[in-house]
Amino acid sequence: MENLVDGFGRVARKLRLSVTDRCNFRCSFCMPREPVWLPSDELLSFEEILRVVRIFASMGVSRVRLTGGEPLVRAGVERLVKMIAAVEGVEGVSMTTNGFHLSTYAERLAEAGLKSVTVSLHSLKPEKFDEIVGVRGVFNRVMAGVAAARKSGLAVKINVVVVKGCNDDELFDFAELARETGMTVRFIEFMPFDGERSWSIERVVNASKIIEVLSERYQLYPKERESGSTARYYGFKDTQTGEIGVISSVSEPFCWDCDRVRVKADGKLVPCLFSRDEYDLKPLLRSGATDEEVIRFVRLAFMKKFRGVETLLRSNGMLEHVRPMHTIGG
Ligand code: SAM
Ligand code: SF4
Repeated sequence: MENLVDGFGRVARKLRLSVTDRCNFRCSFCMPREPVWLPSDELLSFEEILRVVRIFASMGVSRVRLTGGEPLVRAGVERLVKMIAAVEGVEGVSMTTNGFHLSTYAERLAEAGLKSVTVSLHSLKPEKFDEIVGVRGVFNRVMAGVAAARKSGLAVKINVVVVKGCNDDELFDFAELARETGMTVRFIEFMPFDGERSWSIERVVNASKIIEVLSERYQLYPKERESGSTARYYGFKDTQTGEIGVISSVSEPFCWDCDRVRVKADGKLVPCLFSRDEYDLKPLLRSGATDEEVIRFVRLAFMKKFRGVETLLRSNGMLEHVRPMHTIGG
């Protein structure tokens, strides 16, 4: 079958699948203070999600990342991982998680076929971490989750959302974590998708600044960028152990070779994180539409994927808040 292609010739290869908008954390850069959750009957069932994955896989989408909200608060998610990993054409299933439930789930997830996990860890100072995620006493549990994931054989990456004046004094500590453990630590620019809408460009630490700061202490070398990757990776010249990455979605987005497509927990297809456009698959899935009908709908929706962040900046000179991050997954 033909690949899933947008109006600019970009081919979809990766599916970001949100399995819930709910979360047990309240990260300041993501959640509103009083979140309103989707009613549970609005969520796609595992069987509906599986059908969506099969349909995307039939069009050449081979990598699936489960996200949320917090994917590990959806009951039975390891069963979903197993179902997705068995879909023809799916080459890898991964997950982005806050790590809270990882010590319980890591082994089951690995057995179910999960290949890698990205754990969000925004500070290495326990009190600061708790303050950022809005829940007390959870730092050690998240670190235990990271250890459990590594022990279970999952490839583990760390995501750090860098916010000026909050955790940008910890760049060296995170680089040391990468060097000591061999993990990949990725620094993400703060995007305007916080629930309280308090984002401002002054609070963004540009990826180039992060590299500049780290280069004061380390000799970094850029690695070749994989096509479609949101991150730029750097190794340390003095050791083979560990690497860092920067995700410059605000200052230097790689929209021109973007290969992602997103589906929210309620079945809305979102071609681009920065665009308001959503296309509801649920009515089709729940009204007996054939796969061919769903495929036609998906192709038409994806064809309308907009060019990207640069277009936004050119048209109104600024980035707008589109939706809180927990409703779609980063
Ligand atoms: N709950 C999981 C977690 O925190 O890893 C998965 C969902 S979370 C929305 C996905 C990723 O988006 C996380 O790495 C999170 O830190 C990141 N994120 C959340 N809000 C963000 C924002 N405003 N700007 C940049 N990244 C953000
Ligand atoms: Fe939850 Fe992840 Fe959002 Fe934090 S970033 S509130 S852990 S969904």
